[in-house]
Amino acid sequence: MPVKVAEEWLNACAGCEISILNIGDALLDLLPELDFVHIPVLIDHKYYGQRGDKDTLEIPEAVVGIVSGGVRNEENIHVLEEMRAKTQILIALGSCAVHGGIPAQANMFASDEIFEWVFRGSPSTDAAPDPDHPNVPKWTAACQAADEVVKVDIAIPGCPPHPELIAEAITALLEGKTSWSLPEKSVCDTCPVIREEKSSEGPIKRCFENLEFDPEQGLDKMRCINEQGMLCLGPVTLAGCAGSSGAPRCVQARTACRGCFGPIRKGARPMVDMMGAMTSIGMDPKSLVDRRAIMNRYIGGHGNLRPLPARPVR
Ligand code: SF4
Ligand code: SF4
Ligand code: SF4
Repeated sequence: MPVKVAEEWLNACAGCEISILNIGDALLDLLPELDFVHIPVLIDHKYYGQRGDKDTLEIPEAVVGIVSGGVRNEENIHVLEEMRAKTQILIALGSCAVHGGIPAQANMFASDEIFEWVFRGSPSTDAAPDPDHPNVPKWTAACQAADEVVKVDIAIPGCPPHPELIAEAITALLEGKTSWSLPEKSVCDTCPVIREEKSSEGPIKRCFENLEFDPEQGLDKMRCINEQGMLCLGPVTLAGCAGSSGAPRCVQARTACRGCFGPIRKGARPMVDMMGAMTSIGMDPKSLVDRRAIMNRYIGGHGNLRPLPARPVR
């Protein structure tokens, strides 16, 4: 009998759902064993009855629940709580659901500052009041990861997660397991570049500057990106993004890891650890533009990013 699956997107961009489709041929093998009872990206399943005739939001019961996206408004909370109530094993899919993701960069600002800028302050905006309609869900105080609101059983990080990881986690559940996780190792642990433990001198290069590498040669002939003086978050980021293809996905494309898989373990402090890693090879963390945002690019949930207290006027 196929396993019932419910899928939902909260504060999401649909990239995680595209990643499910990108499982490709392996998905064709999995599909006969899965019965998607709810998946708004594919099926127009209404929350309040197919004719809008119900008073309460309802998602069908399922064994496995998958949610992408973080929590940004009251509707997201409502849907997430319903997913938790109706599913036995809940998977947080993607960095938004697992860590808050890119939208949680907004956590550096108070909601009223954001609304002021978006609806009145931005030069390209015709000034208007904040939205105030019962059908527009209210914002939460911060953009949160799913596990800040409900219990999550399995976390599949990545922006987006590698399709192989999604297939692996689903296969584990179909085999009767109730958990799945990535081994705790860093992106650097899977990176074959040359390391000399010493960075080039000078301020940290911006991402639009060129790295040095020979496109005719393999990664094992390229020097570590941090050692070339450009920030690479590999030392503090959980490995796994490349699936079975080996080297970290961004480094394969000759660009720096931006940390999309999040910290190597729960409770880690990637910003502090990264500053230590930088200092140890002679990089100057103070020369990094927009340091707090860059080092917490995908992990602004869990209180990692919050508005700074106003500085006293001198
Ligand atoms: S994790 Fe990335 S791909 Fe997935 S919903 Fe968030 S922004 Fe989109
Ligand atoms: S810092 Fe980046 S380039 Fe250097 S080893 Fe780690 S992942 Fe590879
Ligand atoms: S290299 Fe880093 S940013 Fe790039 S996909 Fe892997 S974890 Fe994400």
